[in-house]
Amino acid sequence: MTSLSDLPIRDELRGKQPYGAPEIEVPVRLNVNENPFGIPEAVVEDIVASLADAVRGAYRYPERDFPELRGALAGYLGHGVTAEQVWAANGSNEIMQQLLQAFGGPGRRLLSFPPSYSMYPIYAAGTQTEYVTGERGEDWVLSPELAVAAVERHRPTIVVLCKPNNPTGTALGLDVVEAVYEATAADNAIVIADEAYAEFDDTPSALTLLPGRPRLVVSRTMSKAFAFAGVRLGFLAADPAVIDAIRLVRLPYHLSVLTQAAAVAALRHAPEMLAQVDAIKAQRDRIVAELPALGYEPYPSASNFVLFGGVEEPKATFEALLAQGVLIRDVGIPHALRVTAGTPEETTAFLDALGRLRA
Ligand SMILES: *Cc1c(COP(=O)(O)O)cnc(C)c1O
Repeated sequence: MTSLSDLPIRDELRGKQPYGAPEIEVPVRLNVNENPFGIPEAVVEDIVASLADAVRGAYRYPERDFPELRGALAGYLGHGVTAEQVWAANGSNEIMQQLLQAFGGPGRRLLSFPPSYSMYPIYAAGTQTEYVTGERGEDWVLSPELAVAAVERHRPTIVVLCKPNNPTGTALGLDVVEAVYEATAADNAIVIADEAYAEFDDTPSALTLLPGRPRLVVSRTMSKAFAFAGVRLGFLAADPAVIDAIRLVRLPYHLSVLTQAAAVAALRHAPEMLAQVDAIKAQRDRIVAELPALGYEPYPSASNFVLFGGVEEPKATFEALLAQGVLIRDVGIPHALRVTAGTPEETTAFLDALGRLRA
């Protein structure tokens, strides 16, 4: 057997680790920010009926530019977004990869603000784009001043602002997006607002900033609030010229007929798919409210997960919770762990398990 280091792998990939949230079958899974309530049965049935039709047509290639799905996504987004401004791919991870393929590359720089989504440096490595970082302030808050300072220091080609930020849950003001957009005007850089958790966020979406900002891209996903992680459907809204750029790099027929049919059907039922968002936010707020009594320090969250500090040994606490059937996430931040807001029962199981560790 050969090892990875024996293969002619590209130099920038040597020694790298793949994305690797543990996949462990346990009763309470609160580690990858899914909607734990699942899909309502009536919606499942309508999606299945659409899939049956799609299978009958599956001897043909899918529509390359999927106008029906783009129209449905535009309708879902609102804010005056049109189908021509929308693009979709197999998860917002593929959206981001396509953006990096179109706008990154050798001699170009991707700027982000760690701790943030762990995939950003991986997209950069995969496209030979240099990965550069800026600082956050107290409690992980990113101010316009800190963001602009990083832009001026690095002169990036692409900036990705995680809004709200994963793994910290921190909200991001539109003033930061606007300031970064202005600061990157001279370099004509692409500014991406990654709004994977927008449906949980009470602050306004960067969609409101799209008019007149052709370099701004708002990235969304059906994986989180929409309870559709397994289908793999991410999307973006931007100026149609950005989509013309992506068409140059996307693989033909990248969205299968099954994916398109499932997503269009689910979007017909958007209110039902999103019906549990308030319940999830209530569990998030409950975690933030209850952790201090257990001796932990939760950070404010505009998302469906909570990062909490005050953890002496994150690895040991992670393992001790796992032994009680509760899977959360060690995101590599010293003395901190991240937990997804679950159903009321799952959240209770997490809080009880954590309480037993302190007892
Ligand atoms: C989960 C997540 C995504 C994307 O997930 P997909 O399932 O690929 O759509 C993107 N950005 C952030 C910050 C996330 O947490």
